[in-house]
Formats: sequence, C-alpha cells, structure tokens
Amino acid sequence: MIKFIKTIIYSSLFLNIIGAINAQSTNKLLIITTKEAYLKTVQEDGDKALVLIKKYVPSIKLDIKYATSQNIFYQKLYPKALAYVRLPVAKALAKVQEELKSKGLSLKIYDAYRPYSVTVQMFEMLPDTLYMGLPWTGSKHNKGIALDLTLVNLKTGKELKMPTPFDALVYASHPEFPLVSDEAKQNRELLKDVMKRHGFVVDPMEWWHFNYKSSTNFEILDLPFKTFE
Ligand SMILES: [Zn+2]
Repeated sequence: MIKFIKTIIYSSLFLNIIGAINAQSTNKLLIITTKEAYLKTVQEDGDKALVLIKKYVPSIKLDIKYATSQNIFYQKLYPKALAYVRLPVAKALAKVQEELKSKGLSLKIYDAYRPYSVTVQMFEMLPDTLYMGLPWTGSKHNKGIALDLTLVNLKTGKELKMPTPFDALVYASHPEFPLVSDEAKQNRELLKDVMKRHGFVVDPMEWWHFNYKSSTNFEILDLPFKTFE
C-alpha cells in the first residue's frame, strides 16, 4: 500500500515538473519590483494596500518562523518578524479573531506576505513541487493573500494541539488526513471552519495554510517589508 502511494506521489511529482517546464516556457510572470509600481496599483484600488496585521488585529499573536533560524531551512530569511497582508485580508482576520475571542482563543501567524525572491530562494534550497511555493507560478504568499497560522490560547499563548507542527512535509499535514487524535482533529476542524466562514480556503496539502478568496487580481510582489513601513 505504502509503495503504491509513493508511486502516485512520485508520478505526480514528475508530471508537475513536466508541467512546470511547459509553463515556464510559455508564461511570463508579472512581478511588481518597484515601490512606484506598487503604489500605482494601490492608487487604482485601495484594497491592494499591504497593511500590518497587528494594526488591524492588535490581539493577534505572531511567531514568524522565517524571521528566525527555527524553520525547515535552518536559516533566517526575513530581516524582521512582521506580518503584512492586503487590506481586505486584514479585515477578514479581524472578524476571525473576534469570533475566536469568545472561545478564549486567538490566531497565531507563522507567515503572511513573503517577497517573491524569498519563494525562489526557498525553492532552490528545497525543490519540492508538492509542498513548496513554485517560482514559475509564484505563491499566494507573494500576493499578500495567504497565511500560515494556527490556534493558541488567548491568555497563555500556548498552541492548541494540531495534527503536525508547522511546515511538516508529511501526509498528516493534509487538512483532511483522518488518522490523527480526536483532540487534534477537533482543533484542526475548528480552525478550518472559522477561517472558511470569513472567506478563506485551506490549502489541500497543509492544514496551516489559508488563501483569501477574492475576485481581485492581486499582483505578485517582490518588495522588502520596509517598502510598506
Ligand atoms: Zn503557506
């Protein structure tokens, strides 16, 4: 059975790589790389502003893993532990947090906006087409509409039990994986449910990754955090 599953995984990996090569040769990614170009998009659509989540959700907890070396790359990839998202995403998170507060819980953010060049750097270190953001498509983190997060106790900040730690590249990270403890399953379902009701969709491979659903075309950005200060 395991061998069978592995064969499927490796076949899809191979097909992904072939698909990627085709995509790379036919599509050109549009990436915003200057502050001026970014500000122009914000002038045209105020929803495109990148804002600090803490400003809109002061009680939210931050544990920005890539601003430390305690991550799967064992490297500090961000100069500061900051979490930026597009304006409507921050407003939606405020609603999620409000609902969690009544249960004595809070969101804790592991990662939010990620500059495109960091996605490229990550892929070079770990070229996994199943779990990693792909340089040839860009990641929704690069668009400021994706979040990696979990649930914590509002008062103590202690993490609720989940099926796996953040960034565990294992089957149990899949948001529907059935073979986890009742407690972890209950917490995972609570997180998925509250996020879904406020406009987020969970990633099919990672219980901690959520994309904000929107009809707006948010561009990929390759701008450092200091651009938005
Ligand atoms: Zn993510």
